[in-house]
Amino acid sequence: PTMAHSKALLVLENFIGGKFVPCSSYIDSYNPSTGDVYCRVPDSGKEEVEAAVKAAKDAFPIWSSKSPLERSQILNKLADLIEHDLEEFAQAESKDQGKTITFARTVDIPRAVHNFRFFASSILHHVTECSEMPAMGCVHYTSRAPVGVAGLISPWNLPLYLLTWKIAPAIACGNTVVAKPSEMTSVTAWMMCKLLEKAGVPPGVVNVVFGTGARAGEALVCHPDVPLISFTGSTRTAQRITESSAPHCKRLSLELGGKNPAIIFDDADLSQCVPTTVRSSFANQGEICLCTSRIFVQRGIYSEFLKRFVAEAKKWKTGNPSDPTIDVGALISKEHLEKVRTYVKKAQAEGARVLCGEGVDPLALPPGNQKGYFMLPTVIAEVKDESCCMQEEIFGPVTCVVAFDTEEEVIRRANGVKYGLAATVWSGNVGRVHRVAHRLQSGLVWTNCWLVRDLNLPFGGMKASGIGREGAKDSYEFFTEVKTITIKH
Ligand code: NAD
Repeated sequence: PTMAHSKALLVLENFIGGKFVPCSSYIDSYNPSTGDVYCRVPDSGKEEVEAAVKAAKDAFPIWSSKSPLERSQILNKLADLIEHDLEEFAQAESKDQGKTITFARTVDIPRAVHNFRFFASSILHHVTECSEMPAMGCVHYTSRAPVGVAGLISPWNLPLYLLTWKIAPAIACGNTVVAKPSEMTSVTAWMMCKLLEKAGVPPGVVNVVFGTGARAGEALVCHPDVPLISFTGSTRTAQRITESSAPHCKRLSLELGGKNPAIIFDDADLSQCVPTTVRSSFANQGEICLCTSRIFVQRGIYSEFLKRFVAEAKKWKTGNPSDPTIDVGALISKEHLEKVRTYVKKAQAEGARVLCGEGVDPLALPPGNQKGYFMLPTVIAEVKDESCCMQEEIFGPVTCVVAFDTEEEVIRRANGVKYGLAATVWSGNVGRVHRVAHRLQSGLVWTNCWLVRDLNLPFGGMKASGIGREGAKDSYEFFTEVKTITIKH
């Protein structure tokens, strides 16, 4: 950026002990829809993390001794404040991440609000266990207490949505936190910090340290006074976090990548299935861990499905994310766009057919967006199961469609990847739907729908898609330490 530009840059600060603190060095953050640097994010390291952990430790005794009801009221207040500024948050999320304003308005920010309201309510409804042993004259019961300082690390695809999905249960349970959002999408977390005091969150309960994974993230993971880490991100980073935290035997919750199949049987209602599967493939530019990227279609309806699917995908308009009529915004970064494009090239080189999108259709962008990181929704057919496009997480607007014959065969092929996060099954046959759902190696299975979530129930992946679950009861268990107490009378 030129000097003229740098004057107008948005400069973020860490939030430690209830105060905004400048950092000695900064990282550039890009607007993905224009390619311009527009924001500077603190490049925090050990020193900043140390200060944040100390603030969180100091705040723990008072916060952890508040009643669940007191904490619940504060969470509700925070939810109201974010909701009051919903439009401002949505604009910021769209600009920072590249996602469409419509998605930020209807999904990201409402869900962040809901995360606080949900845990504000659910924390009031947990009961612990009790077991009597009359012959021994004993009664046993469990008690649960907050663990301490929680380290929370989140990715760039659903910035405020995923960060608050961790902050809300952590503080509802009485922990204090040090959060580190992705260095590529830090703005809405910083905006949220501005509301904490007004909501009544005491200083030090929520600290946010901005920076890269290698410096700030690593410092948090290695800090001896942070006994638990809740991480959402890639499988590769999770491996690194597991190694770095091993000397301290930390409690880890790992929500990782996916390579999610959609299985479409010949009795599926295509009028529902086609638009929903286009959405599950391309929503948020395909940058959702739950997005469909392998579509298995039963042979009898394969050509019909493909024709309708491609026609529907072509209706999705790609362009300026701040235009409310746009369906596909910009990808997160230039590097990520290149990576996603490379997958399409590899598929072509292997003999697969690109039916629409990248390299096939023209991408017309408004003058202000020529340097943005855009890509059309891309549908690839006839990809081999062993191809990297069918095995690796692409995390962009690319989906592969292949044919299958039998139920047995499709279950085997759907399970034939290292991941196991989410699957969708489309069929009008209720018996088959249950049978297939049970046999899929997947933490979540949606049948005849996609992305319908009840936050009460466990969320998380199998195999390389994660360890642990989050949800009302699961998050409560993760963010508290249980003790069994025996009383003899
Ligand atoms: P990433 O793993 O690169 O980064 C995630 C976060 O970890 C960032 O804040 C990053 O700075 C930090 N980090 C990186 N290296 C670190 C280290 N050594 N120590 C500590 N922290 C470190 O992931 P990403 O590219 O930001 O996000 C995309 C990935 O996230 C995809 O794989 C996607 O599937 C996954 N994801 C999973 C879920 C889920 O719920 N399962 C949800 C959303 C995204």
